[in-house]
Amino acid sequence: MVISVPSSNLIRHTDIKELLQTASLYLHIPFCHTRCHYCDFNTYAGMLPLREPYVRALITEVELAGQLAQLANGTARRSRTIFFGGGTPSLLTVEQIKRLLSACYEAFTIDEEAEITLEANPGTLNAEQLAGLRAAGINRLSLGSQSFDADLLQTLGRIHTPDEIVQALHNARAAGFHSINLDFMFGLPGQTMQHWKATLDRALALRPEHFSLYSLIIEEGTNFYTWTNEGHIIPGDEDLCADMYEYADERLQAEGYENYEISNWALPGYQSRHNLTYWQNLPYIGMGAGAHSFFGGRRFSNVLDPQEYIRLLKKQQRPEAENELVDHTQEMSETAFLGLRTARGLHLPTFEERFAESFTQFVGSRLRLVEEAGLLEHENEWIRLSKRGRLLGNEVFLRILPD
Ligand code: SF4
Repeated sequence: MVISVPSSNLIRHTDIKELLQTASLYLHIPFCHTRCHYCDFNTYAGMLPLREPYVRALITEVELAGQLAQLANGTARRSRTIFFGGGTPSLLTVEQIKRLLSACYEAFTIDEEAEITLEANPGTLNAEQLAGLRAAGINRLSLGSQSFDADLLQTLGRIHTPDEIVQALHNARAAGFHSINLDFMFGLPGQTMQHWKATLDRALALRPEHFSLYSLIIEEGTNFYTWTNEGHIIPGDEDLCADMYEYADERLQAEGYENYEISNWALPGYQSRHNLTYWQNLPYIGMGAGAHSFFGGRRFSNVLDPQEYIRLLKKQQRPEAENELVDHTQEMSETAFLGLRTARGLHLPTFEERFAESFTQFVGSRLRLVEEAGLLEHENEWIRLSKRGRLLGNEVFLRILPD
């Protein structure tokens, strides 16, 4: 099934009330073969024997979440997207993924045309598994590719090779996947512009429907953080990093990919509906160890430790660790903040329909000051950060949004 999303892919204001009644589903699979040197996600190496008890716990959480999210008349909540993220979801068997999907279909009303994504590591995929995943209902694949340079993949601590990316993509096509994302990273230690151009050349030759490009951020607690402090690696130069971003943006746009969010490019109709849920500040329910949710006027997150998570779910207890109420003003600020960061910007009629107050009224006289400084620009019904505003993103938000 080809995922068809309107090319603007941003909500028409007539849809917003309906969309606020839905919940996107995220299922976190926190297992990896080894830990990459830059990774600070909630993921663990050496826990593969926990996969089956974890899947059982996750199924229980899906059931509990389905009950929690039921509509007032007792029917199941509608969901437009399911996303298996990690970690490395491709370390589960096809049978385990099928059981998780069945649980989602039991507990929620999943759209017939739902976007169902699975993140996969090219080093953990084979043709048979891909065919099984496609038959199970996964219709979008996101391959954590990171680079086509073998040395850089080693520097990152990845387990796959450049050829395995190509093989995984060919196998995915043969299995019937028509919506594929490739993730790449730039600003890596030792990465030159030549490396980056060569990676994009090979990636574009594969013609995936979607690209996510991230600059490396060295996070505390990672090997890269220690090695940087010890002087063993030198982080990528900031100016080079900005040049790499600009080069990629020009190159991808010339090849027909729209830059619909700072780090994401897609061929028309292939924007990630699931990720747009986050940027449009629509409800989502995250399940699994450490997963986050925004639902029912609250943001909440689960316990991080998979063993603790399994222990709680065995007792049918919800694994929530933290939660925060989101009041009306905060939701307005967050919706504006997230929307302005997308390439198209914030859709003004949708904002007004959602909050019964226009963006102009909400921001008041602060808007004029920011516009006069050339940080925001209008286009028809949209408002977005200007090129200058993008560079100063956080400052713009501080200047216009209430605390
Ligand atoms: S495969 Fe992904 S989630 Fe796992 S350690 Fe590497 S970066 Fe982290």
